[in-house]
Amino acid sequence: MLDYTDLNNKDWAVWLKNQGEKEFHAKQIMEWIFKKGVLSWEGMSNLSKELRDKLESHFKMPFLQLVRVTDSSDRETYKFLWKLHDDQLVESVLICSGTRRTVCVSSQVGCPAKCAFCASGQQGFVRNLRAGEIVEQVLQINQWLAPKGEHVSHIVYMGMGEPLKNYESVVKSIHLLSHPDLLNISQRRITVSTVGIVEGIRRLSLEGLKVNLVLSLHAPNQHIRKKIIPYARKYPLEEILPAMDEYSQKTKRDITFEYILLAGINDHPDHALELAHLLKGKQCAVNLIPYNPIPGVKLNRPEKKAIKQFRSVLFGSHIVNTCRYTKGVDIAAACGQLAMQEKKLNILPNA
Ligand code: SF4
Repeated sequence: MLDYTDLNNKDWAVWLKNQGEKEFHAKQIMEWIFKKGVLSWEGMSNLSKELRDKLESHFKMPFLQLVRVTDSSDRETYKFLWKLHDDQLVESVLICSGTRRTVCVSSQVGCPAKCAFCASGQQGFVRNLRAGEIVEQVLQINQWLAPKGEHVSHIVYMGMGEPLKNYESVVKSIHLLSHPDLLNISQRRITVSTVGIVEGIRRLSLEGLKVNLVLSLHAPNQHIRKKIIPYARKYPLEEILPAMDEYSQKTKRDITFEYILLAGINDHPDHALELAHLLKGKQCAVNLIPYNPIPGVKLNRPEKKAIKQFRSVLFGSHIVNTCRYTKGVDIAAACGQLAMQEKKLNILPNA
């Protein structure tokens, strides 16, 4: 079966011609999928039955089957569980904040990064998502929002998976989601979060995209980082930080650093001082996230007093920082956890 997201307008025209169909259907098909969010060939009512049957036999649609939606008690965050064609499960999170409707998408099944504090990391890596499987998380949530007269306004690649380890599909999905003739979500409203895949950051800076980049830093030095992020051994901070600077210079986007505060590991005032030193002179913001414990992981959230002290050291060093408190929500990806419980997404890069 072919992937319908592999075809752009021109490709559709060629495919239709080869099938003995009129080329103008290309525009109609793209509109049905991306403008009207119709994810069944059967539902494309201005196409002939014959053409719909041909499409049905050549292209898989939809990629995702919704298993369930769960919401937080305040009905501001919704978790969508999807089943894929091979019975694998992934999640997306919708965060409603004011008029913003932010979708946190997954980019892989499981995650190869194996961060010590993350449920997805513990699960291990299964496979990359294809672009259509990423795009459909947004398209289907858009459909879910439509009866309320709402639509997805922002996208964060912070769900299950390391986006830059599924580079081609992620970039392709960004193009599809932001294309003016398709979903038309501004790239300035799209954020990619990475643990620091240096070659991916460098490559992304040459793509000509304007998406925001967030580094999951989580430590003030290489020594601590290696203990909680196995990828840190392969990608040392001394290589990641220049790559982030390069991204910022090339794209003119500020960069953001995420820092999960872990009791007794990276939350001492000396760590804050070290962090301030590490980030000195950078146009950036730090998002502090007091850890939300997950079953089976022996890591703890610092006391409020320690968090306050940490922040005051950063403020004293003129490092812009925000702090997000999380509540217990059982979502698979730690990155997704963070986003799901985030109600003030304006701490993510603004657009
Ligand atoms: S925190 Fe993000 S990068 Fe790390 S294991 Fe979890 S999903 Fe992967």
